[in-house]
Amino acid sequence: GLGNDRDGSEVTLIDGAPRLAKRQGHKFSHGHALILAGGVGRGGAARLAARAALRVGAGLVTVAPPPAALIENACRLDAIMLRALRDADAFAELLRDDRLSALCLGPGLGLGEREAALVAGAVSSGLPTVLDADALTLIARDPGLAGMVHDRCVLTPHMGEFARLAPDLAARLTSPAESGPAYSKLDAARDLAARLGATVLLKGPDTVIAAPSGRAAIHSAASGREAPWLATAGAGDVLAGLVGGLLARGFDPMAACEAAAWLHVEAARSFGPGLIAEDLPEMLPKILCDME
Ligand code: AMP
Ligand code: MG
Repeated sequence: GLGNDRDGSEVTLIDGAPRLAKRQGHKFSHGHALILAGGVGRGGAARLAARAALRVGAGLVTVAPPPAALIENACRLDAIMLRALRDADAFAELLRDDRLSALCLGPGLGLGEREAALVAGAVSSGLPTVLDADALTLIARDPGLAGMVHDRCVLTPHMGEFARLAPDLAARLTSPAESGPAYSKLDAARDLAARLGATVLLKGPDTVIAAPSGRAAIHSAASGREAPWLATAGAGDVLAGLVGGLLARGFDPMAACEAAAWLHVEAARSFGPGLIAEDLPEMLPKILCDME
């Protein structure tokens, strides 16, 4: 445990490789992640998330862009499957495939009515779901949508997205406490996790992960295993894909977040400065191999 432990719930420091079961068997036994992303001109975000999900061991990954972006996405995807998704009705049809094991929403998704309906469909499916980027903005705008979030959901906000989701908690982080201990990033993540009943992974130089139960984990830059060059365009999309891939493999939300946060930083560390986001998934095979 750590000193910051305010109510006796467990806080772990992420300072070692996660335990990953050996891959055995059929591709379908490693899960199928569906990435709802990749609007027109925004296929890059979907591709980053999808490659991360596949590299971290999901058996199958499908990117589902709107029909207008199908060709654009098809040109850039090989092992990743593609399925055009017109609207929430088409999504409901797709969800009848009981081999889908996790959803990843947000990177390059868009902020229209179609996208809001897709987020609603995703959370009401009850499937393990990671919500990032535009999906977080949609939830922040609509309390009805926020109310649908459940304990198999993972939210991966950076501080700006966190402030949109919980302006009151963000304000407590920036204004000094009148008395007593300062309100920490850990407190803020825990409070949002409790409020939404979902796991929250709050990104930044230090990454804090909190489950609704109060359980929490920290990947601290102070651990000495930091990679400041990880703060680069698209890095967050890769992280969302890692969480989605691990959820698809059957990790519970907390374990998926802890492993994703560690692998994300290790990938950046093993590449080094000059990293761009598309390098991150390509570093995973070596890291995973060294862990076996
Ligand atoms: P996004 O803003 O969605 O692209 O996410 C940014 C990613 O970069 C997250 O995974 C953060 O944890 C990570 N990040 C941001 N700042 C730093 C930093 N100073 N050192 C290491 N990682 C960082
Ligand atoms: Mg982002």
